[in-house]
Amino acid sequence: MTQRTALVTGASSGIGRATAVLLAENGYYVFAAARRLDKLEQIRSDRIEPIGLDVIDEEAIRRTVNHVISTKGRIDVLINNAAFGQLGAIECVSMEAAHRQFEVNVFGYARFMQAVLPHMRERKSGRIVNITSAMGKISTPGFGWYAASKHAIEALTDAVRGEVMEFGVKVVLIAPGLIKTEFVPKQLALLDTIAHPPAYQKVVDGLHHLLAHEPKSPGPAIIAQAVLDAVVSANPPVRHALPLDSKLAVAARWLFGARLFAWIIRRQMNF
Ligand code: NDP
Repeated sequence: MTQRTALVTGASSGIGRATAVLLAENGYYVFAAARRLDKLEQIRSDRIEPIGLDVIDEEAIRRTVNHVISTKGRIDVLINNAAFGQLGAIECVSMEAAHRQFEVNVFGYARFMQAVLPHMRERKSGRIVNITSAMGKISTPGFGWYAASKHAIEALTDAVRGEVMEFGVKVVLIAPGLIKTEFVPKQLALLDTIAHPPAYQKVVDGLHHLLAHEPKSPGPAIIAQAVLDAVVSANPPVRHALPLDSKLAVAARWLFGARLFAWIIRRQMNF
């Protein structure tokens, strides 16, 4: 039987890296993409091929997908995972930074979907897993642009799922809660680059307070396992939120309504 192939974005660290390794361990030939090739080289094997690219580079994405098709003849799975978290109060994050958040987190995912779908449609088979976040369904002070980007991914994913279903392509959302990776440290470093006037100090301190739980969070392995399950299952979930904090955040927003939920969040942020 021909070996199945997977393309994983953001594979140089965290969830993407754990997913690339797990898919390879489970028989997939994995094209592992990210900007930092040196990090990708650490996981190179006879089943993992590093691909250096930036998800804002549409031409590089097309070249990559053509490379997958020309060398392996098929692309079975796309894991859209590469993203970063732009924190900061809406008033203070520059439009340039906001655009960058959408270029990577939203248009990056869209570019990959557009690149692989013609092949999946032709083969009448394929699986796309889009990694979103609890912030795909809720939004809190300081998380505005990141949450907006993840809400956009939820909307695009729900749309494309219905569009490609009849072509044998299944599309899944995985919504992680807080996971211990490079993500939060990078988020906080980026927050430091945003100039907040003293009036917003509570928001900045609140973000640090909320994210201080990150070192006690689970590692990326549980998300990688959920991705593998979504890839191999004949009937994958539409949206899988895990671990419990991700499920609870969305349930609480639904249960308590916008006003009470916002009050609870402000309390959690020590406002
Ligand atoms: P990491 O920061 O550890 O990994 C992010 C990956 O994305 C890296 O491999 C990075 O590689 C890649 N990446 C970022 N920007 C670009 C770009 N412009 N072009 C190509 N690759 C890029 O984070 P996680 O593993 O935690 O995050 C993975 C996913 O999980 C993201 O979609 C995130 O939103 C989501 N998530 C994470 C949570 C968490 O608490 N960790 C919570 C909820 C959701 P490189 O820098 O080498 O390009």
